[in-house]
Amino acid sequence: MFSSGHLLCHLLLIGSIQASIVVLSSNDTYLDRSALFGPTLTNDLYGHLMASSQYGCEPQAPPTTDWIALVERGHCSFADKVRAMQQSQAKAVIIGDPDFNHWLTMVATGDTSDIKIASFFVAQYQFRALQLHTLNQPVLIQLTPNDENRWSFTDLMIVIVLSPSMMMMMLFFGLKCRTYQRRQKERAPCQLVSSLPSRPYRHEKLGHQEDDDECAICLEAYHEDDWIRTLPCRHEFHVNCVDTWLTTRKKFCPICKYNICRPINEQTPLLPC
Ligand SMILES: [Zn+2]
Ligand SMILES: [Zn+2]
Repeated sequence: MFSSGHLLCHLLLIGSIQASIVVLSSNDTYLDRSALFGPTLTNDLYGHLMASSQYGCEPQAPPTTDWIALVERGHCSFADKVRAMQQSQAKAVIIGDPDFNHWLTMVATGDTSDIKIASFFVAQYQFRALQLHTLNQPVLIQLTPNDENRWSFTDLMIVIVLSPSMMMMMLFFGLKCRTYQRRQKERAPCQLVSSLPSRPYRHEKLGHQEDDDECAICLEAYHEDDWIRTLPCRHEFHVNCVDTWLTTRKKFCPICKYNICRPINEQTPLLPC
């Protein structure tokens, strides 16, 4: 992905930075950030930290056996430094910023498959402290795999696994919500429905036609003392039948489609059930 040519350095603040350099004699721990080129450290790596000469831009004789190069940023690209230190038989490279106290994520363009050693970036504070440790003699350090990478991988997996499900859940609930709102709009408020006139059915009082003697919703004939509700359009139904119809299905009269919400005084909005 990041390959050949010259090296770019990039100010990327990705995630948290984890401790990964331990000076074994003092147990001092410093933070670093792995480069995005070269191998990724998978196990602890031990070596003698020594400062390189000349910004690490040129190969040099190894100052000690089993050494890890401490290199100052500048004068050549990160990849050039790592290649030069690789030729100098360094096991790994720590590149430090002499001027700024921030972490860079070191990247390189072009083919970097020739880079076989891991490299890390440290900010000014860590760089100065490591320089002090190596002033007089090599110092044994332990490089631990960068937790940032492990977390990045874990984060990536979480994102890959959870994102589609989260999106689906959000879409599902969004659609449910819209459907619910649409249905609520189509229904009549309970308060309004219960305010409509109702009365017990009296067979002898009816001078209507036969059709009026049965509820058009349940198609049952009215019996004496059945509670009947009269809608504004004068159509009548069982109270239970029409209340259920209006509050859970449609706010329209099942026979003539009269909108029973039409006469609502808009100054006093009614709560849907
Ligand atoms: Zn009925
Ligand atoms: Zn009607």
